Amino acid sequence: KVEFTILVIEGDGIGPEVTNEACLVLDQLSALPNGRASFKQLKRLFGGCSIDKHGVPVTAEVLEEGRTSNAILMGATGGPKWDGIRRGVEGCEGGTTLLRELTDVYANIRPCEYISSHVSPLKEELVQGTKFIVVRENVSGAFYGPKVEEPDYASDLWAYKRSEVERIARMAAHIALSSASPVPRVISCDKANVLASSRLWRRIAEETIKREFPQVEIVHQLADSATTLMMMHPTSFNGVILADNTFGDILSDLAAVIPGTLGVMPSGCLADIPVKKWGDEPVKGYYEPIHGSAPDIAGQGIANPVGSILSVAMMLRYSFGMEEEAQAVELAVKTTLDAGIKTKDMRGSSSTREVGDQVRANLKMLLEKQSEYS
Ligand code: NAD
Ligand code: MN
Repeated sequence: KVEFTILVIEGDGIGPEVTNEACLVLDQLSALPNGRASFKQLKRLFGGCSIDKHGVPVTAEVLEEGRTSNAILMGATGGPKWDGIRRGVEGCEGGTTLLRELTDVYANIRPCEYISSHVSPLKEELVQGTKFIVVRENVSGAFYGPKVEEPDYASDLWAYKRSEVERIARMAAHIALSSASPVPRVISCDKANVLASSRLWRRIAEETIKREFPQVEIVHQLADSATTLMMMHPTSFNGVILADNTFGDILSDLAAVIPGTLGVMPSGCLADIPVKKWGDEPVKGYYEPIHGSAPDIAGQGIANPVGSILSVAMMLRYSFGMEEEAQAVELAVKTTLDAGIKTKDMRGSSSTREVGDQVRANLKMLLEKQSEYS
């Protein structure tokens, strides 16, 4: 059995509650008699809990473990207690930034799949069958360009280099070709009508994908009208949405309207194109549900663990090439929700633990079936 090391950062608020359920899924896979991998979990303090104990959101030792581990699983960090601490290296977000920089995770991957929940504010017949993956450029563009901040003037430089667009376009094409995408199609969103950086983005994305991935279709969509289209015809985005840091941020948050709760959405940040098959060198990734620490429901045992569990499925798929196990986890989640075992945010009445337990019971059955056939 191969052993992978996972740095587990439960964080604050509901972070520990939801992460625990995801870690138990990893334990279950580790314990399989004929499983192919085991997962050594290093549970460490990070964010508000680290500020309380060590005075910093992340210690040098934890950062070092983040550098050497195969993948990172995050819960969520922050909360009202620490919101007063100024942003930058001392606040909770500073810790996250340090960890991201250390792992150079240039791609933020956010899948959006409609799960029959009857909590979507959109009409059921509209959202049914929606399945797309937002691939957002994560380390450049307007967020990281040089800034000027004066009392009466401020600016952010929104710039991209050819190499930065090429690598994220390749990432999008790889994901469009993977089994995670329903069709081999990339929909690139930009504002090429007004932004020079978007015109470069559009030209390089198109060239790269046409040259290196002739089997992938690439189409372009203006980012502003993409928001309207996403709400009116969400299935028209099925495939991969490729966007820069700014547009990707907005489009991926908007996508949470489709399932109707933040609680079911996973995410991953990757430092390289995903592992294609089992046995390839693992790719460093950083996985977390997209929601925050939800202080309003923390400590009650009612947080939805699905986003965290599905983040583990992404880790299995993208970092380790364990596609069968990833699909089994996803199916185990779907079966659980279909049976009405849901938390309050999905109009259910089950606890965090009950949802997690049922997912693992379903997973056990699925894995036993898989091993009968193999
Ligand atoms: P939030 O995502 O924590 O909560 C928004 C709403 O969604 C709340 O009503 C919450 O109860 C609900 N919700 C979120 N996750 C849920 C889940 N798994 N199950 C059921 N309901 C869920 O966003 P917020 O309130 O804006 O932020 C709270 C704190 O979290 C802040 O301190 C913020 O800085 C931090 N935050 C951290 C991260 C991160 O660590 N990645 C991301 C976002 C916000
Ligand atoms: Mn955002």
